[in-house]
Amino acid sequence: MNAALDRPALVLNRAWTPIQLTSVREAIGLVAKGSALIIEPETCRTHDLRTWNDASRARAALGAETIRSRHLALLPPEVVLLTSYEGMGERSVVFSRKNLFKRDRYTCQYCGAQPGPESLTVDHVVPRSRGGASTWENCVLACLDCNRRKADRSPERAGLKLRRAPRKPSWKTLAQVPPRLRRETWDQFLSRAYWEIELEP
Ligand SMILES: [Zn+2]
Repeated sequence: MNAALDRPALVLNRAWTPIQLTSVREAIGLVAKGSALIIEPETCRTHDLRTWNDASRARAALGAETIRSRHLALLPPEVVLLTSYEGMGERSVVFSRKNLFKRDRYTCQYCGAQPGPESLTVDHVVPRSRGGASTWENCVLACLDCNRRKADRSPERAGLKLRRAPRKPSWKTLAQVPPRLRRETWDQFLSRAYWEIELEP
């Protein structure tokens, strides 16, 4: 029974695009707290734990392996659909230096210069000294010139204008599933993801 909990499950975002793998255990946890629904791969119908329990019953009667708790007997879910931006989705694009460079495409967000990674700095739009946070929405790449010009001021004060409002990058798609983990029921979702992977510039 524990082995079933450790099996991989595929996580789709709200646009039904695969974004990562998790374990059956964590997938059930997401569904239990209302952050995800289980997808029945054959019909693409979505289930919460209660309706999945009902759907599992018929197949359990035919001898399928189930995960049992006091009130539930569940087939191990193989695909889950996130229903909120909380939970796993929020963690999928980590706020890191590397990802920030990627989001801003190695471009100064004030003047558009592309001087190379060594000559770009991470700028806090609202300066840290004024309570600006280190978040996707408050950090952008700036070239050394713009960074110097801006100093400890807001962009308006410094006479600088952001080329676009900084945002958290959109969901990362799952690029590849190691073949040994791959499950047949995932094919319909993964083949679709193939066309939606963001290509490196
Ligand atoms: Zn610049």
